Amino acid sequence: MPLFGYHCTACGEDYEMLVFGSEPPTCPKCGSHASERALSRPAPPPQLGDPAPMCQACGQFGTCPGHAA
Ligand SMILES: [Zn+2]
Repeated sequence: MPLFGYHCTACGEDYEMLVFGSEPPTCPKCGSHASERALSRPAPPPQLGDPAPMCQACGQFGTCPGHAA
């Protein structure tokens, strides 16, 4: 699930929140929806040396039963 960093423009709080679809994030401090994206939090890279390819369809590492080439 995507975890994004946000900066609340109402109270200045920086927080991270899981975002589903296009729902606006809610500041945990003041409850405001007035926020802007702060830092992108890309998924951590796979461990170095991991020989398993990543399934392009679902992002699962290794052989994906549903999307195996
Ligand atoms: Zn706030």
